[in-house]
Amino acid sequence: MSYQKQKRKITLKIVPHTDGEIRSLRLSKGFIKFLFLSFLLCAFTLVGSLYYYYNQYNLAEGEINNLIAYKDRNNELKNKNKFLEKKVSQITSEIEQIKAEFGDIITENQEIKKMINFNGKMSSNDELDIDETNSIGYYDFENSKNPNLEKVQYTEANLNMLKEALPQKKHDLYKLKKQVEEYNRYLAAKPKGWPIRNGKGRITSPFGVRYHPVLKEKRFHDGIDIAIWYNHKIIATGKGKVIFSGTKGGYGRTVVIDHGYGYRTLYAHNNRLLVRVGQWVNRGDVIALSGNSGRSTGPHTHYEIRYKGKAVDPMKYQ
Ligand SMILES: [Zn+2]
Repeated sequence: MSYQKQKRKITLKIVPHTDGEIRSLRLSKGFIKFLFLSFLLCAFTLVGSLYYYYNQYNLAEGEINNLIAYKDRNNELKNKNKFLEKKVSQITSEIEQIKAEFGDIITENQEIKKMINFNGKMSSNDELDIDETNSIGYYDFENSKNPNLEKVQYTEANLNMLKEALPQKKHDLYKLKKQVEEYNRYLAAKPKGWPIRNGKGRITSPFGVRYHPVLKEKRFHDGIDIAIWYNHKIIATGKGKVIFSGTKGGYGRTVVIDHGYGYRTLYAHNNRLLVRVGQWVNRGDVIALSGNSGRSTGPHTHYEIRYKGKAVDPMKYQ
């Protein structure tokens, strides 16, 4: 073996502590280099692997945290959603109630109109009814892809419909109220009932053509004669303004009331007059005390109703 060859080798002596043969391990420097490089490679690989797995672990941990956060958010959204759903269903049922009340208003409106028999004085919008044609109808929310959104849309549409219809309905009701008030004024004024307090007296001469007991001839009787003794309370048969209170020829002491709407009433042959011209009276107010003044054969009241100047039968206004 040459010296150069010897230089490239080293010898490891393995000496046992006990008795035994000393072993020699002759290694070339190239092999040692190879061994060293192999060791370095292994070490790098190990460190690299460790680093990789460490990173992977960190990533996984982040993912898990994200998932937990997502789950929490999801639960929160679910709760919010439940709350919204509840709210929407509440509003929906409230709207259904309003719609029902609206229906009642319309029915009442129509019934009042029928009752007072107004003939088409209101606008054509009167007939605007809240029914399925102006609502968006019922939704099958359970089968819809986005029930909450559709519920909100349904609710919105209903609200808009009510909002649009409400001013007109309010206006109609206001008009109707005015008309009812006017009708009540008319009813309060139009002559009705018996002109003597507590319905006293009996008819001795009816309305129409009759044989006049004083003039002894057939004449038209403008009113009814009610036999009643002196000083019974004569009452107005409707609200109105006194336009005459005094002596009126054959009628004697007389009161005339103008009720408006074309009606006037006349109460004749009184003993005393208790109202003056220009005074307003209501139905049932005492206006005179009965007597026998004027052209009369005995104490009685002559009661007359005139409509647009023409005498009408008081028995038709009881
Ligand atoms: Zn008479």
